[in-house]
Amino acid sequence: MAQIIDGKLISQQIKDELKEKVAELKANGKEICLAVIQVGNDPASTVYVGNKKKACEYIGIKSLAYEIPEETTEEELLGIIDKLNKDDSVHGILVQLPVPKHINEEKIINAISPSKDVDGFHPASVGALSIGQKGFVSCTPAGVIQLLKRSNIEISGKECVVIGRSNIVGKPMSMLLLRENGTVTICHSRTKDLKEVCKRADILVVAIGKPRMIDASYVKEGATVIDVGIHRDENNKLCGDVDYASVEPVAGAITPVPGGVGPMTIAMLMNNCVEAGLN
Ligand code: NAD
Repeated sequence: MAQIIDGKLISQQIKDELKEKVAELKANGKEICLAVIQVGNDPASTVYVGNKKKACEYIGIKSLAYEIPEETTEEELLGIIDKLNKDDSVHGILVQLPVPKHINEEKIINAISPSKDVDGFHPASVGALSIGQKGFVSCTPAGVIQLLKRSNIEISGKECVVIGRSNIVGKPMSMLLLRENGTVTICHSRTKDLKEVCKRADILVVAIGKPRMIDASYVKEGATVIDVGIHRDENNKLCGDVDYASVEPVAGAITPVPGGVGPMTIAMLMNNCVEAGLN
């Protein structure tokens, strides 16, 4: 029986720790503020933004909502970001992605001041991570590290295999595991013998975006398996990139979907906001 890594519980612990910190800061006259910008009303984005607002409320972070129309121009959006960059009472700025097609996403990410880049997507934040300097780290991979640490799973010296090389999950995940002294291999769609590489892993992090692709034949007995994927299956049930029923009996530890990595992303966003406020 694998140890079930409980992301719901761990994310709640993190949020409660942050709530205490924020109360202390408030008592000393400092109010942390996150500005969340949503362009248009994509239903999935509305759900994500709503969850972020709820988490801010729970922790005691002030949230400023900019719900602006789909037709907003790139220039107008850049204007809002510029104003928020210059506003000392705002500590974090988040633009909910994706933005409408007429807006250049890269330009928007680059416009956010690295000191307020709580998503950790700015090239300066990514660069800082890769050379071991201080900077904000992308929330989902930062959450995975917390799951491992708080479940007492050693990373140092371990064979870590990450499947996926996206800018927001796979790449920063690999850098973080390396920072924790893991021996890291990155796999992607062109990797040959994926199964053989995965079978070497003591810690296997799966971020492929393919429902239930990784079954027990990819997993070494006793390995820790972290499933970043989120999908709805043919019965509208949530599932991950890992075939949980097949992998759980061979894994040493595993994250479920839902209730594994998912809740950690917002908890780490809140953590980044508090850090932004302390800078
Ligand atoms: P992505 O599509 O940007 O990247 C997928 C990666 O998987 C690519 O680098 C690709 O090379 C690799 N890949 C695709 N097919 C492969 C194959 N057959 N073999 C090996 N590698 C393959 O996806 P992403 O944004 O990194 O997200 C990955 C998954 O994580 C998605 O299911 C997404 O919904 C989920 N996700 C969850 C959270 C969360 O908060 N839990 C956050 C971000 C993403």
